[in-house]
Amino acid sequence: MINRLKILYELQLIDDQLDELEELRGDLPNAVESLESKINEIRTSVTEKEKQKKESLDKRKENEEEMEKLLSNQKKFKAQLYQVRNNKEYDALTKEIDHSEEHIKKLELENDSLADLSKKLTDEIEEVKPQLYTLNEELKEKQADLKEIIKTNEKEESKLKTKRKEIADLIKKPDYSAYIRIRKAKKGKAVVTIKRSACSGCHNIVPSQKQLEIRRNNKLFFCEYCGRILVSPEVAEQSEI
Ligand SMILES: [Zn+2]
Repeated sequence: MINRLKILYELQLIDDQLDELEELRGDLPNAVESLESKINEIRTSVTEKEKQKKESLDKRKENEEEMEKLLSNQKKFKAQLYQVRNNKEYDALTKEIDHSEEHIKKLELENDSLADLSKKLTDEIEEVKPQLYTLNEELKEKQADLKEIIKTNEKEESKLKTKRKEIADLIKKPDYSAYIRIRKAKKGKAVVTIKRSACSGCHNIVPSQKQLEIRRNNKLFFCEYCGRILVSPEVAEQSEI
């Protein structure tokens, strides 16, 4: 039974060391992630604006072609005016000419506002370029710092992870689940010892009767104040980590 408690205690020691390595990375992983998402956000918005620009340009070209067609029709109608035989034909032709005139004006107006939109989009895209550059530089720097820290501790970390796996494989599933649950809830510390009659996790006194029971090392005990797994000092002494 002491072995069941000992391996839980050893798992805690390994996780403590892994947590320390993680702490060395400080805020860098978060900073990298937040920079990456900021950069992505800006890039997505730039892509969207480029797409709008392209659509606007296509539409302008289409309008220009339409205008050319209208103008050449207009020319034809104007030439026909000299050949009309009666008022009715004359009215019909002038109506056509006015109609295409109106249409051309409408397309011109539309193209003016599309050109304004393109200009606005170009300005907006240009505007974020320096910001994007700065963010990218910042990201590169932080990534390099993080990589350096990870590289420095790479060997130690992989050794610890191998050892952790070996130990975790020996632990019964319910014990492991309890360990993980408490570890999450208690910011890392799931297994603690009794020190000077107190739980070393929350420093509350453990009643002497319970201390005696815990010393038998034959059962999993939980601190009644903080819920952590309590092990006797003998378990800690026997640990091989
Ligand atoms: Zn406690």
